[in-house]
Amino acid sequence: MQFEPVIGLEVHAQLKTKTKIFCGCSTKFGNPPNTNTCPVCTGMPGVLPVLNRQAVTFAIKASLATHCKINKESRFDRKNYFYPDLPKGYQISQYALPIAEHGFLEIDGAASDTIKIGITRIHMEEDAGKLIHDPARARSMVDLNRTGVPLIEIVSEPDLRTSDQAGAYLRKLHSILKYIDVCDCNMEKGNFRCDANISLRPLGQKEFGTRAELKNLNSFKHVEKAISYEIERQTYVLEEGHNVIQETRLWDPVKNKTFSMRGKEEAHDYRYFPDPDLVPLIVDDQWILSIEKQLPELPDEKHSRFMKDYNLSDYDAKVLTASIELADFFEAVAGPLKDKKQAANWVMTTLLGMLNSKGITILESPVTAIAFSKLLALLEKEKINAGAAKTIFDEMVDTKKDPKIIVKEKNLEQVSDLSALETMVKTIINENPEEALAYRNGKTRLFSFFMGQIMKKTRGKADPKIVTQLLKSNLSTEPSIEKK
Ligand code: ADP
Ligand code: MG
Ligand code: ZN
Repeated sequence: MQFEPVIGLEVHAQLKTKTKIFCGCSTKFGNPPNTNTCPVCTGMPGVLPVLNRQAVTFAIKASLATHCKINKESRFDRKNYFYPDLPKGYQISQYALPIAEHGFLEIDGAASDTIKIGITRIHMEEDAGKLIHDPARARSMVDLNRTGVPLIEIVSEPDLRTSDQAGAYLRKLHSILKYIDVCDCNMEKGNFRCDANISLRPLGQKEFGTRAELKNLNSFKHVEKAISYEIERQTYVLEEGHNVIQETRLWDPVKNKTFSMRGKEEAHDYRYFPDPDLVPLIVDDQWILSIEKQLPELPDEKHSRFMKDYNLSDYDAKVLTASIELADFFEAVAGPLKDKKQAANWVMTTLLGMLNSKGITILESPVTAIAFSKLLALLEKEKINAGAAKTIFDEMVDTKKDPKIIVKEKNLEQVSDLSALETMVKTIINENPEEALAYRNGKTRLFSFFMGQIMKKTRGKADPKIVTQLLKSNLSTEPSIEKK
């Protein structure tokens, strides 16, 4: 029997407000433990939460960017459970009436089609604290700095069918939240976290099967790998005639497998009820409209514009708009240049290659967009050739020097003096009569041999376009001679 995977993702994104969701404490990461705290976020009796307006604005912005319908009235509820990182004994969240519902985002399918993935709801909630375990001294400590930091939870419809689609959905959502600047989206730091729900059903069946929920997925790769593993595991369970049990599983990135954390019988009954300390959240049209006006160009729109304005392929535009930082970098590079396609190629290969090999982000690039643009301007004006440009680029990475200075220092100015190059071409042909003969007899592969000789003579500085023309004309001036 063939099975079809059904996947739905729940994403928690930390909103980048300066202060917490219900008190004035700082949200700054990395401060000494328990210094960003007050009676409200440490859950003292008798305190009252006050909703942070900026957090609501960010939540609405994220909702609009994912095509959700904003609920003009939403509510905060108490989600009750006991855990040492939750001093109040409940988390303030939204349950029955979330801030937004019924959205979607679009991802690329395998057959260069577009797939719409539904977003069930987006709700606001507060984060919990952090436990720090110290097994050496057999103790655990709690840091409440994160307690009360604002989150949105974005719940997808069970519309995803493969781990690749899940990865694409997550990357798209990540990219959108970065574009609209409401979340730092650092998965390792945990301010963009994902739980994945997976079930299988016999192909053609309408009802969903029993699902497992995967937690502890802190990179895109882990999400994709864990889902693939889980699909394989559940297929095996079903093929063996057993049932998948509803449970929460964790991903072990070392062993590359999921393992059971808790079963359904241990699942919490949260006893949600409306928080009596908070009035319903009313959002009027004017507020929504003013946020809508602040929405920047989103990834899909930027992608279309890049194809149109810069004449880029669908693929190139996708690579360059995947992150807002890369898109901005590319636009700053390409802006002053004529050849946008060349700029795109250099950004995608040379620049991204360098970042990749150094393991750094574009924000940490030793070569700025302006410096990179200057380098490509020299190439465009044929002051240097592509080989020299690469040498200069490597030097810029090491020294951060201006490309023009490197050209002077290393004497890399392109040789485009026609008569000097023509003399050189003639000499090379005379010095290599056998190769010249073979070329003229059809061994055209030897063209690169001659080009190589000229580049050797000029230490790589000859204008390849001029040399190509000169070689072609000089190598074909004599009639073809029969080989004896
Ligand atoms: P919970 O509150 O227990 O996490 P929800 O109904 O809110 O449950 O669903 C959470 C996520 O699980 C959603 O993203 C949803 O799309 C997904 N989901 C629900 N049922 C299934 C299923 N049978 N298989 C896979 N995913 C599912
Ligand atoms: Mg869940
Ligand atoms: Zn506080």
